[in-house]
Amino acid sequence: MKYSSFSSRSNGEQGANGEQATSGERGARQAGIISLCFAALGGLTLALLLSLVEPSAAQPDGATEPARFSARVGHAVRSLMEPGRSAPGAFPSNVTNPQDAENPAARIHPEFALSHDELVDLLQNAPDSIRKRIGNEAPAFLQAAKPLLDPQQAELLMLVDRDHPLPSAYRPADLVPMLDFDERITGAAPQARIDRRAATALAEMQEAARADGVELQPWWAYRSYREQEELHAHWRNEAGEEAAHRFSAAAGHSEHQLGTAIDFAPIGREFHGTPSDRWLSENAWRYGFSLSYPEGKEEITGYMHEGWHYRYLGRKAVELKREYFEGLQQHMLEFLYPALPHLRAAHEDSPNPYSPKAF
Ligand SMILES: [Zn+2]
Repeated sequence: MKYSSFSSRSNGEQGANGEQATSGERGARQAGIISLCFAALGGLTLALLLSLVEPSAAQPDGATEPARFSARVGHAVRSLMEPGRSAPGAFPSNVTNPQDAENPAARIHPEFALSHDELVDLLQNAPDSIRKRIGNEAPAFLQAAKPLLDPQQAELLMLVDRDHPLPSAYRPADLVPMLDFDERITGAAPQARIDRRAATALAEMQEAARADGVELQPWWAYRSYREQEELHAHWRNEAGEEAAHRFSAAAGHSEHQLGTAIDFAPIGREFHGTPSDRWLSENAWRYGFSLSYPEGKEEITGYMHEGWHYRYLGRKAVELKREYFEGLQQHMLEFLYPALPHLRAAHEDSPNPYSPKAF
């Protein structure tokens, strides 16, 4: 089975990767979001009517609001918002009614049928610091996330980790040979293949590094499920089950199966501290590449520090990661993976049959 987009996974059905534990929750959450959409529409209509007959009801004074909204929406947002940051002046002028910033059921971006509560609900698994940051800057966050809604990009943003495997038959649609694709790419193994989009970015990145006097060696990228299976078995034999588990992914759990992850030589600890390591740490993001397993984050990413392993996410996604997810790809993808279908549905310009307009 092949992923077509995240949206096919949002209806409570079993995920294409066989992951079942959270699919029911996801369906339930979607149902909750849809009902919140109704609540938001109802709330806005009511607020409009009340504002016609009773001007004081439209005041942004939260004290008059709970009676109408508290039964239907939570208060997570209020508790997350820092004093001062929720003031109407903090919202961009293109939000139609800044006073609605005080109203948890109001939309937070003119192009998204989404309230603060709904957005924060999508972030329920993120650390508090990230939820707070995004809660405080919700309009700007949605603006920055907009370019990622394109279903064409869905595969670039797939979450593949210890808990989220790819199906054994998953194979990227457009693989190219690393060495024959662009003459600026050098240092790869003769048989190495890579996703075309990653290759395009890699060629530019390698040229830039070369101009800075650093010769990157992108040795390998795509590994099939079967190749990963063999590699993992090799490391289990070499290093033992427990040690292998820290640095080698089981089949289906490797980002290399996506075709967008690259290992730069010399692969292994000897990479750390090399000119390539230093140059990539500083510059890879400019070309849309992300360090998947940073130092000191093993408990979050599931893998020990791998300075040589970069994954292509695209520049906009890496910018979002740097700005809102404390620089951690794992945090961002854990959010985007289940949230993208909801964000797409809420984005009113997107040709999505689940658009709230259709309800
Ligand atoms: Zn790797």
